[in-house]
Amino acid sequence: MLDGVVALSPRELTCDDSAGLVLARDVVASENVPPFANTAVDGYAVRAADVVDVPCTLRVIGTLAAGDGTEWHVGAGEALRIMTGAVMPAGADAVVMVEDTEVVGEQTVQIRKSVAAGTAVRPIADDVRTGEVVFSAGTVLSAAGAGVLSSINARRVAVFPRARVALLSTGDELVTDGSPLRRGQIRESNLTMLELLLAKSECEVTNLGVVADDESVLERVLLDAARNNDAIVTSGGVSMGDFDVVKAVLSRIADMQWMQMSIKPAKPFAFGLLRADDRRVPVFGLPGNPVSSMISFELLARPALRKMMGHTRDLVRPSILALADSPLRRKPDGKMHFMRVFAHFGDDGRLRVRDAGPQGSHQLASTAMANALAVVPDGAGCDAGDTVEVMLLH
Ligand code: AMP
Ligand code: MG
Repeated sequence: MLDGVVALSPRELTCDDSAGLVLARDVVASENVPPFANTAVDGYAVRAADVVDVPCTLRVIGTLAAGDGTEWHVGAGEALRIMTGAVMPAGADAVVMVEDTEVVGEQTVQIRKSVAAGTAVRPIADDVRTGEVVFSAGTVLSAAGAGVLSSINARRVAVFPRARVALLSTGDELVTDGSPLRRGQIRESNLTMLELLLAKSECEVTNLGVVADDESVLERVLLDAARNNDAIVTSGGVSMGDFDVVKAVLSRIADMQWMQMSIKPAKPFAFGLLRADDRRVPVFGLPGNPVSSMISFELLARPALRKMMGHTRDLVRPSILALADSPLRRKPDGKMHFMRVFAHFGDDGRLRVRDAGPQGSHQLASTAMANALAVVPDGAGCDAGDTVEVMLLH
C-alpha cells in the first residue's frame, strides 16, 4: 500500500498554516535572532569594570524600554536603566538586575552585586544566525517551529500540503439526523470518528456523509470525489455481504487490492487507485464495524496518508514494550490481535497496560477508553506481568 502512494507536490504556505506539516525544503535564515544585543533582565546597563568593588554608586543617565531605538553611551561611572529586550547601549558590557540595586537619589543608583562582562546580555544572533539552516527538509514543523519562522520573517515556506480527503460512509441502516430509530436502524458513528482522526492526521476533510447502498449513486459520488481530492476514505461495504456496494463499484472503476488480513479486528480492507481523468486517487476502504474502522485507519490508512503528506519517518505509530498489568487473553485463530488497552507510566517509570474492556469489533465504547493497542501474536494471549508490545495511539 505504501508503494502505491506518492508524496503530494510541495506548496508554499504561510508559517501559521504549516504547523504539523513536513517541510519540503531547507529553511535558511535571512535574519539574525535576536537582531541586536539586548538585555535579558530589567536592571542597569553598566561597565563591569565599574562594579568590581560593591556596593558602589553610579550616575543614572536615562531609561531605555524594549523597542526604544534611542542611542545611548554609558561612560565610566554611569548606568542606564534598561528593560528586558532593550538594546544594549554602547559602552556598557553587562547588566545588573534591578533586584541587586537600589535607587539612592534622583539620578543615582547603588549597585550591590558585581557582575562579569557579558552578564545578562543576549548577544546578537544568539538564537539564529543569518545563513544558518534552521530546519532541514523533512522536519515536521511544530508550533514552536512556526514561531521560529515568524522570528526570522520566513512568512511562507515550502511544505507538503495537507491531503484533501473525501470521507463517506455506506449503509442503508445508518441514521445521521437524530430522528427516532426505526427497526433495523442504527446511528452512524464512523463519520464522526474518522473525520476527527483525519483532521488529527493533518488532512483536510470533506465529509460527504452517508451514501446509499446503491451502486450507481456510489459510483457517481466516488468519481466526483476523486476529481477534487487527493484521497478517499470510505466506511463499510468492503466485506463479504450481498450489499457490499463499495466492493462492487470499486472493482469496476479502480485498480483494487482486496484484502483479507489475518488480524483482528479489521480483517477486511480495500486499497486501490481510482482512475479519475489522468490521476490515480488512492481509496482506503475501511470496514464498517466501528472498532475495525478505527483500527484499520490507524494501521493502514494513516501511514499511507502520512507518506502522501511528505513524512518519511514514523509512518506508523511508535511501538514500545510494556508490562501487562492485567491478563490479555485471546483465542488462537491464526491472527495477530490488536487489543485495545489503557497505557500509563507507573511509578517505576515503565509503561504499564491493562485491558480497556470488551474487545468486540462493534464495541466502540471500550475502545474509546483505550490509548494504545497491544500487539498480541497468535496464541492464548499473555498473563499479568508479561511484557507485551504496545502501539501508542496518542
Ligand atoms: P459493513 O462493513 O458495511 O458490512 O458493516 C459492518 C457492521 O458495521 C454492520 O453492523 C454495520 O451496521 C456497522 N456499520 C457500518 N457502518 C457504520 C457506521 N458508519 N457507523 C456505525 N456502524 C456502522
Ligand atoms: Mg454495510
